This record gives sequence, C-alpha cells and structure tokens, in this order.
Amino acid sequence: MSNQPQPDRILIFDTTLRDGEQSPGATLNVDEKLTIARQLARLGVDIIEAGFPFASPGDFEAVNKIAAQVGTEDGPTICGLARATKGDIETAGRAIAPAAKGRIHTFIATSDIHMQYKLRKTREEVLAITAEMVAYAKTFTDDIEFSPEDAGRSDPEFMYRVLETAIAAGATTINIPDTVGYLTPSEFGGLIRGIREHVPNVDQAIISVHGHNDLGLAVANFLEAVKNGARQLECTINGIGERAGNAALEELVMAMHVRRSFYNPFLGRPAESEAPLTNINTTEIYPTSRLVSNLTGMFVQPNKAIVGANAFAHESGIHQDGVLKNKLTYEIMDAESIGLNKNQIVLGKHSGRNAFRTRLKELGHELSDQELNRAFLRFKDLADKKKVVTDWDIVALVNDETQQAPEHFHIELVQVSCGNHACPTATVTLRTPEGQELTDAATGTGPVDAVYRAVNRVVNIPNELIEFSVQSVTAGIDAIGEVTIRIRHEERVFSGHSANTDIVVASTQAYLNALNRLYTSIQDGKTIHPQKDEMATAATARI
Ligand SMILES: [Zn+2]
Repeated sequence: MSNQPQPDRILIFDTTLRDGEQSPGATLNVDEKLTIARQLARLGVDIIEAGFPFASPGDFEAVNKIAAQVGTEDGPTICGLARATKGDIETAGRAIAPAAKGRIHTFIATSDIHMQYKLRKTREEVLAITAEMVAYAKTFTDDIEFSPEDAGRSDPEFMYRVLETAIAAGATTINIPDTVGYLTPSEFGGLIRGIREHVPNVDQAIISVHGHNDLGLAVANFLEAVKNGARQLECTINGIGERAGNAALEELVMAMHVRRSFYNPFLGRPAESEAPLTNINTTEIYPTSRLVSNLTGMFVQPNKAIVGANAFAHESGIHQDGVLKNKLTYEIMDAESIGLNKNQIVLGKHSGRNAFRTRLKELGHELSDQELNRAFLRFKDLADKKKVVTDWDIVALVNDETQQAPEHFHIELVQVSCGNHACPTATVTLRTPEGQELTDAATGTGPVDAVYRAVNRVVNIPNELIEFSVQSVTAGIDAIGEVTIRIRHEERVFSGHSANTDIVVASTQAYLNALNRLYTSIQDGKTIHPQKDEMATAATARI
C-alpha cells in the first residue's frame, strides 16, 4: 500500500447538501441542490458531500446529477454517503460514477453503546465488516473515506484497530466524527493526536474531522484538531445541520485566514507565510451564505460570526470614528474579503442588455437567451422602482427566474386591500395552459393569508403550509423581499421561492411555484422529490 500523499493545505469537505439538508425544515429539491453545488464549486471547496444516495430516489438523482454537472476535471470531488452495507455502497458507487473525481464515504458505529444496541454486532464482527466493505467500495473508486460513527464515545484502543483495518483495506481518508457534539477542544485534539500515535498505518490516509455544535464548540474543536494533525474539515455553510448544526465553513475558513500564522500547521512553511491555508475563494463566502439561506429557508441570525447582518456593522460612534480613520482600528478583517462590499451600484435604468449579461457572467450566472430576456425585463422594471440596483438584487432576480417551477398555473392578477380598519381581502386571477382564466376572492387574517385562501379556492389541491419566510435582499425601504415557502401534500414537501419589491406579489408567486411543483408531481403520478420521511426509514445511522 503506497502512502497517501498529505495535502499542502487544509481540505474543505462541504456537507451542506448531506448533513446540512438533514436540518429540520431544510429539505431541498434536486434543482436547488444543483444550484448550491455549483456555488460550492465557485467557492472552491475541495469535496462536496452531495447526499446519501441509498436514502431515497431523490437523493440518488441529486448526487448523480451533481456528479455529472459539477464534478468536472477541475471541479471538486463529489462524494456520496453509504452505510457499511453492499446495497448502500453499490448505490453510492453508481450515483458518483459520472464525476471526474468521485468518493464513497462509508461508516459504521464503533462505540459500545451503538454496537450493542443499534448494530447488535460484536467488536470482531465490526472489524470484519469494515475490512470487507472498504474493499468492496474500492471496486467503485480509489477515493474511499471511512468514518467510525460515534468516535468520541468509542473505546480508543478498539477504534485504533478499526481505523488500521480500514486503511489496510484501502481507505484514503479516515474521518473522526463527534456525532453527538460532546467533546471539548482539548479532548478532540487529544483524540486526533492519539490516532496519529497509535494507528500504525495512519500515514497512508488523510485525517478528517466531523462534529456537531451542541455545545457551540464545533469550530473550536476543529481548529484544535488541525493543530494535532487533521487535514480535512467537514463543515456546512452557515453551520446548518442536525440539531445545533455542524461546524460553520465560513468561521473555520476565516479563522484560518485571519489567524493564518497562528493556525499554520505545515512544517517548513514560514509562520508568517501569506499562502492561504485553504483553497477557498473567501469572496464567495457571503454569496454562498445568502444562497443557502434562501433555498433552505434557514435564516442567519444577525449576530452570527462572519455572515450575520451585523458582523461588519460598526454602530457605536467611537468605532465609526476609528474605522473611518483606519479600518484596522476595530476591524480584524475586511468586509470585502468575504464578498460583502462588492454590492456597489453596478447597473442603472439606462444599462443595456450586454452590460447586464456581462455582469451576470461575472457573478457566475450563465443564462439561456430566454432566461436572460425575462431577467432583463425584470431588471428594467426594478431599475424604475428602485434607485440603486445592487449585485444582490440582480442575483435575487436571476435566482427567481432560474428557480421557477414548471408552470401550470400562471398569475394574471393579484390584488389585495388591507389596513387597520379593513378586513384583508384578496382577488386572484390564474391562467391555465389552455388559456382559461380563473378568478376568486377570499378574506384572511392578513394580506398573504387572504391571497393564499383565494389561490386555494382556484387551485383546489389540499396542502398544508409548513413554512413561510421573508427576507430582504438589501437594506432600505425599497428593498427586494425574498419569500421562501414549503407546503406538504400527503407526506411530500414542495418548496417555492420568489423575489419582488412587493412582498405580497413575491408571496403569491412563491406559493404558486410550490403548487405548480405539487401539481406536476400529481400529473406525473409519481414522487418527483421524495423527502425526508423516506430517508429516516432508510437510514437510522447518522454521523
Ligand atoms: Zn453529522
């Protein structure tokens, strides 16, 4: 077995689409996952864990499409998760097959409590399964990651044997998860040091870490792990994930960026070296955070490190004075370094289509002619309403155009009257593909409720609204509002997203998008986006 070459940087393994998507309410459909995967590639992550292919046909489809469309030669490695069973591994192997660089991530529990009660296997059986399943995974790709689930509560001596076995069978990355978010930084550092000292063939693999933020320690734990030999970090955008979430990518990357000489773990590289410790293009951090927040409907708290709305707002007079004189008086990092201040006025109402197309390209969006035409018309419309059109506005419009569901019902008219002495009343007219116009009206507790009731009277497909959120794209009274909604119909969840300066219009369009997805799936007579419930039954194991 040849030695696995150790990387000359810290590898960033993004699991937003796998672990992050397991956040309650964060379900994404295949198109949304593809959009995020493309942005993660622009961000420069080394590995995308795109899903758990065995868990559902929708998960398989997402991993498979991301492998084909994002897993290019110069793109990231595309990884699929699999329990240590032949069925899981074979399915993951097929899902990642189109990627230029594909990885299978397989795992089995090694803590006594999991082995005894969940797996009902002895230690010797777990060792045998590890060897057999890593070798089986190796028949699909050379790039195999192995995780001992619940490593933090495993007997270290036994875990060392499992890791040695996995590496001997061909695992090129060994990932140490703190599945339950229990460890402290010094304990996690000690765990990684112990592995380096006691697993004889550890040099043949890259050490990775995975952890949850139940005690708010995930990022601190990972940074300590880096100091002790970890070279791959498993993290998510905005720290989303099960329970309290995963380690936040933006916090890890910026800690290693701002304090690079402190965290530099590479022998032979000067402490004051300016070479970045990761491959991440930090100016894509903020756009990525916004995209994930919009599509998952999981908003970022204003005081969140790095990407929170207040993270770079210097409110107090003393601070403002100091910042104006010299930014470094109170700022440890530049807002531009995470892509925040790139939202200068770029286009106005007199800008032409070519300027619009060029700016979109710079922002990483390649649209078809038809999409460009629609987005351009809306841009002109927006430029009339709003004096200052920023990059964020343009991205919101484009996401809105490219994330429209296949259209069945089209909004012809939405009109609302409301106020403190009025009963909120909405009238809507929807047009069907046959050109039929259907109008109805309803009252509600507020304008959006009234619109949804009116739409329901026209569309007449029972559904439950499980999530509704509004976020403004930029500050200011004329800001675009982005609406994300999720509806449930017979255990299936459908999402809708829309952006408009009028939040009632955005809310209506978002709802119609979700209803159109639901309608299409009923017409198809099949589940187009199988959701989490199936995943829960397919896989009870978690890392
Ligand atoms: Zn996890």
